Amino acid sequence: MLGDTQKKGLLIVFSAPSGCGKDTVLARLEKEADFRRSISMTTRQMRDGETDGVDYYFVTQDYFLKKLEQGQILEYTNYNGNYYGTPKSVIDDWLKKGETVILKIEVEGAENIKKLYPDSIGIFLIPPSIKILEQRLRNRSSETEDEVQSRMTIARNELKHAVNYDYIVVNDLLDDAIEDIKSIIRSEKHKTERSKNIIREVINNA
Ligand code: 5GP
Repeated sequence: MLGDTQKKGLLIVFSAPSGCGKDTVLARLEKEADFRRSISMTTRQMRDGETDGVDYYFVTQDYFLKKLEQGQILEYTNYNGNYYGTPKSVIDDWLKKGETVILKIEVEGAENIKKLYPDSIGIFLIPPSIKILEQRLRNRSSETEDEVQSRMTIARNELKHAVNYDYIVVNDLLDDAIEDIKSIIRSEKHKTERSKNIIREVINNA
């Protein structure tokens, strides 16, 4: 089919402060859009409802540091006392196949990915207000009060980085946020830079 050959994949970096609902948004997107989601490695404890190999690969600190030393981690960060990292292996394969790949990572990792993949795009999900963010974090009740406070401090700092992203989506009504992200992905796929091969095909098939 036209445009199916040598498509350039789209790498999306998706960030949001903790408690903003990014997992809910991603879970809905997975049902409604066609993309690959990288599964990160983390040394933090598994939360209720999470599954190893689905939400994260839950690993020990020794294992994480060994993988890091072996150069098998594309980017990583230490967030609230735990390591989180993107495994290197599959991302480039997916992009070569023309797939859309989403990395759900925090701001520091996002900046590193932008350096490694300058044509990646960044989407930052923000809460309607800081107050609502704190309520959502508390409602989750998987964190202690100290952790909530610590995540709120990180969140305030992360919001300052939102200006460095290509797109800002407010997660007020979930349906609207999903539609916004889907239309961003759709538009990005049509960018001339990613469609040059299609122009070439049209000309060559004349
Ligand atoms: P949580 O503990 O709430 O699942 O994640 C804490 C933060 O770590 C979130 O902002 C999440 O996006 C980020 N994160 C998860 N995986 C990675 C990763 O592989 N690399 C980086 N840099 N951040 C990650």
